[in-house]
Amino acid sequence: VSRAEPTVSDVAELTSRLVRINTVNPPGNEEEAVHALAEYLDGYGLEVDIQPLAERRANLIARLRGEQEETGLVLSGHIDVVHPGESRWQVDPFAGEVRDGRIVGRGSADMKGGLAAMAVALTRLAGEGFRPTRDLVLAVSAGEEVDTAGARLLAKSRVLAGARYIVVGEPTGLDVFIAEKGVLWLRIVAHGRTAHGSMPHLGVNAVSFMAEVARRIDSIMNGIEPNEILSMPTVSVNTISGGVKTNVVPDRCEMEVDMRIVPGQTAEGIQATVESLLAEVREATGLAVETEVAVLQNMPPVQTPADDPLVATTVAAARAVGRHEPRIGGVSYGTDGAVLAPALGANLVIFGPGKPEQAHQPNEFVDLWELDAAAEAYAQIVRNMDVAVG
Ligand SMILES: [Zn+2]
Repeated sequence: VSRAEPTVSDVAELTSRLVRINTVNPPGNEEEAVHALAEYLDGYGLEVDIQPLAERRANLIARLRGEQEETGLVLSGHIDVVHPGESRWQVDPFAGEVRDGRIVGRGSADMKGGLAAMAVALTRLAGEGFRPTRDLVLAVSAGEEVDTAGARLLAKSRVLAGARYIVVGEPTGLDVFIAEKGVLWLRIVAHGRTAHGSMPHLGVNAVSFMAEVARRIDSIMNGIEPNEILSMPTVSVNTISGGVKTNVVPDRCEMEVDMRIVPGQTAEGIQATVESLLAEVREATGLAVETEVAVLQNMPPVQTPADDPLVATTVAAARAVGRHEPRIGGVSYGTDGAVLAPALGANLVIFGPGKPEQAHQPNEFVDLWELDAAAEAYAQIVRNMDVAVG
């Protein structure tokens, strides 16, 4: 008895095809997947450019020319994925298998499904002879999962210059996210004075000092008003190291802190608060340490005003294709949008198929109906934004 292959849509087929190409980052090796997408996009009158990033790594920019020669709306997504992890999957993570109305595989939700839905929306619009007022661009980046290197190159190379609106196709379960927390990583180094462990009064213990800093670090967010979308910023001490030997008073301690900040907060402002905290701890402990504070990463938060036309248009499209009333929310992490939106001066929404909690999980999946719904919604967003703002 032979069982008929289930019929899957063009969006599902393209998603599976992309999942089958391993783009685990590091190292990424996104070029092969970018070529597969370029091949899919070929023949619709689109201008397709491949932008090399590094050996075997590239971005892709597909453009449907508008009446005016400038970029209007950008559909944005990344093609790299994270490692499938150590726990066992029920399927081969790189088979792109269809099971029970889903595609299961690494990157199916985060975010080859979203990219496939965007690519299909673009070819459908092009195939129907749709001509936007300004260029409609699909921007596919390499490197999002590690250092947003692809998005940084897109921003720097000016290929998207003039863009006004960005739709980021990360998995939102077809909800509409309009804000991203910023990322601020600090390294704090304390320099004390070493001494014999039997005579600690002769030294200045850098570890004791840092322990007190770690205990009080949450206080730097005191007085911050919760953001209406992102609520409160977070602070987490994630590495700490110091000392060389049990019988030696440590003269150096180093700590790295991961902060996720909200609009209104800046790296400069937080650094100043951290400096006052260090002074306060010097005072409280009587430990005469010298300190340094270095910024390891600074990606400012982004937020699109709730009354921006892109928000209303995306919510309407989500409502038209979805199976629940779309929720407006935000994300506590940064996407390529946090690189692109400030660099281009554009507003963004994050909207895509797949549940956000599927990202980076074993047995990651995306529902077939959500893939088709997303493709329909992207096309609708493009048309309606063109009517609304040109
Ligand atoms: Zn992602």
